[in-house]
Amino acid sequence: MELICIRKDHEAEDLAQCGIPMPTLVEMIRLARQPLDRMVVANPQMMSAVLWDGVDYFVGYAAPPAHRVVHAISHAVVQRDARASHAPGDERPIHAVITMALAPNSGDSALPCADCCKWLRRYTDATTPVLGIMLRSDPLATVWQVEKTTSGALFCASMTRLPPAAGCRGDSFGLQVYTGDALTNELVRDVELRVLLDAAMNVRRFGHAPYSKFQVGAALTREPTSAPIVGTNVENSVYAGIHAEQAAIVRMVNEYPCTEPPSVWPIQAIAVALVAEGEHQHALPCGICRQWIREFGNPETEILGAKLRANGDLWALERTTLGALLPFDFGPQNL
Ligand SMILES: [Zn+2]
Ligand SMILES: [Zn+2]
Repeated sequence: MELICIRKDHEAEDLAQCGIPMPTLVEMIRLARQPLDRMVVANPQMMSAVLWDGVDYFVGYAAPPAHRVVHAISHAVVQRDARASHAPGDERPIHAVITMALAPNSGDSALPCADCCKWLRRYTDATTPVLGIMLRSDPLATVWQVEKTTSGALFCASMTRLPPAAGCRGDSFGLQVYTGDALTNELVRDVELRVLLDAAMNVRRFGHAPYSKFQVGAALTREPTSAPIVGTNVENSVYAGIHAEQAAIVRMVNEYPCTEPPSVWPIQAIAVALVAEGEHQHALPCGICRQWIREFGNPETEILGAKLRANGDLWALERTTLGALLPFDFGPQNL
């Protein structure tokens, strides 16, 4: 685990090594506090975020019910994009990120959600420091703990154009890749795996993707239901479609209603099938979908990525767990 928790009693000493110059960090914390100081009393679940690109600071915040529409990171990123005056291709990347929230208990976290981590990976290097500033719920909302990690550790195996840096979690998140004979043997040995992959690959043909031209299929199994539940991406003309994993989960919720909490009856495995012909391309769920799977899964939920050739043939299989893809997660147990 690359998460380092820095408690207040040795805050000054450890934060000096967080990878962000101290005057910059002090300014980021000051900026993050401003929206919280104004609004946190009315909205104890609100969160703020500050991005630093080496020159400018970009502040975002979100508060219920608005956080359902725009998250703090997305809000900050939009402002960064709006103010960026540099030419395309010459954009300044984000060098440091902090998020701040009321998180008074030791099991809490102030780090970004999976969707926001995906946004961050678009603008950051894998080694960019990300700090979660946790506040107590005392009248002054004092900082009591800081979670320190990196963009690459938070969102490993992303579909970003930036490769993971050596030594970051993106290099060692427990991904198994099967090709050639190993893939054939695995498909022969594990019938349930083959059924799940076939379901995801077959349904992919029905994906409604007239804009991206990129069809994706998904299939999940959920105990004690053994038949795969499938879904495809469904786009629309305002680019507000849903992803294949989301479609499968929606179908699961509708067709197999469950009165128990999701954690009692979790998603056992989910397979994603898409065209990924490059060796370093992943066929793994995006940030939003990792968060959706987390709602009904758990860290042991198996994630299967079926990498297809353009003609639809399976040539490689990626295999990992949700826990490996979504470290430091925020799930139903946190609310
Ligand atoms: Zn978020
Ligand atoms: Zn997705």
